[in-house]
Amino acid sequence: QLSRLRGHVEKTEQQLEEKRRELTELGIELAHKVNILNERAVAIYKNGEITYLNILVGSTDLRDLATRWLLLSRLVERDATIVKEVKELRQKVSLQKELIEGKKRLLLEEQRQIEEVAAAAQSKRDEIKVRYEQKVALQNQIKSQYNQKKNLKNVVLARYDEKANLLAQARQDEEALEALEEELKKESEAIRARLSERTEGERPAGRLAWPAQGTLTSGFGPRWGRMHEGIDIAGSHGAPIIAAEDGEVVQVNEGYGGGNGKYVVIYHGGGLSTLYAHNSGNAVSVGEKVKRGQVIAYMGSTGNSTGVHLHFEVRINGVPRAPLEYL
Ligand SMILES: [Zn+2]
Repeated sequence: QLSRLRGHVEKTEQQLEEKRRELTELGIELAHKVNILNERAVAIYKNGEITYLNILVGSTDLRDLATRWLLLSRLVERDATIVKEVKELRQKVSLQKELIEGKKRLLLEEQRQIEEVAAAAQSKRDEIKVRYEQKVALQNQIKSQYNQKKNLKNVVLARYDEKANLLAQARQDEEALEALEEELKKESEAIRARLSERTEGERPAGRLAWPAQGTLTSGFGPRWGRMHEGIDIAGSHGAPIIAAEDGEVVQVNEGYGGGNGKYVVIYHGGGLSTLYAHNSGNAVSVGEKVKRGQVIAYMGSTGNSTGVHLHFEVRINGVPRAPLEYL
């Protein structure tokens, strides 16, 4: 549409140029005629002010008047012709001017249309550009959101790994604990097996002596899902531990002892025996006869222990019993 309009404008401009040329030619002709008229006037009326009437008024006699009248009428006739021609030419020029004006208006209208089409095209281009920029902005937004989600996912995965590690660690700890308990159980079973063979003698009638000074921190019975086979008395490191009753030392352990650490077992008669564990040191040896109240060991935290304390057991035929019922 734009190229068609432009072709049309070009054609109109050519036509306009032609008309202008014609107008110029007409103008030249008009100027020529006007010139003739002027020359005539100059030639006939020497000072330019003289009118036709003055020619008549200036006559001397009747014959002169007749001659002047004839001349005047010829002049008037010729001048009228020139004037008529001039009028016609002026009309022609005016018509041409109107035609040119018309063409001009048409040309302006076509230019206006071209500008409208061009403006519409520009507006369309602007709109497309805005849409493209909006699309790019949206794409960037989506990309940014995707990256955020990706980062979040990585954080979650990292936390998951951390928890999985903690869980694995906990399982290992649990397994280690179970292994320790298993070890202690075996040690306890071995002690029981040995003590179950000892039944000779009289069981002491009275209550047992407290084996150490300190605070009772744990009683006999189930503890943390397993059986606690004695009582715990917390005290100071190296504090004396005494025999709860007269008896014979039947076992002295100096090593880890399945978690009991350094410990001493004393048989008192009638199937009754006592055990003293986690000692920092033992003061007796196997086969030794001890008296009630005699120092047999010193308080410590050997074996599987988290603080200085005495683990004290009372056993009947090797089976652990609640110590507080005998003390
Ligand atoms: Zn204990």
